[in-house]
Amino acid sequence: MQLSCIILHVMDIHTCSQELHYVGLKSTPARLGILEALKLSRRPIDVSSLIVFLKKKKIQADRVTVFRIINIFTKKGIVIPIQFNEGKLRYEYASRPDHHHFICTSCGIVEDVLDCTMGEIIKNISKKKGLLVKRHALEFFGLCANCQ
Ligand SMILES: [Zn+2]
Ligand SMILES: [Zn+2]
Ligand SMILES: [Zn+2]
Repeated sequence: MQLSCIILHVMDIHTCSQELHYVGLKSTPARLGILEALKLSRRPIDVSSLIVFLKKKKIQADRVTVFRIINIFTKKGIVIPIQFNEGKLRYEYASRPDHHHFICTSCGIVEDVLDCTMGEIIKNISKKKGLLVKRHALEFFGLCANCQ
């Protein structure tokens, strides 16, 4: 392993454990692994994918443990659960910049949609109704390029 790679790896572990410490959680290999998986993933991931990721990293954690960790992360606001009406939840790292999702109703692939034009709408909601919007969710359903 090259030195730069080692440093990067150490730094990553460091920030992940700091992040857990910040919300009052102790770092365990499974918690760190799940946090890393969520940060690396470019789309919301389900529990089965998290288990695969942990296995690849040789981190021991059964389904119950992974569910328990993901529930704690959700309560602490590290993770946002996302429901695509596919009979399971997916999870995404909460500190990602504002973006939305497209899900293919045929093959189930999920893509991030980076453009967001909700700013004006949110401004109007607060102006007209006096409501404070803290976050919003918007999903697009349809057919991906392969399924069309
Ligand atoms: Zn996303
Ligand atoms: Zn598709
Ligand atoms: Zn948005």
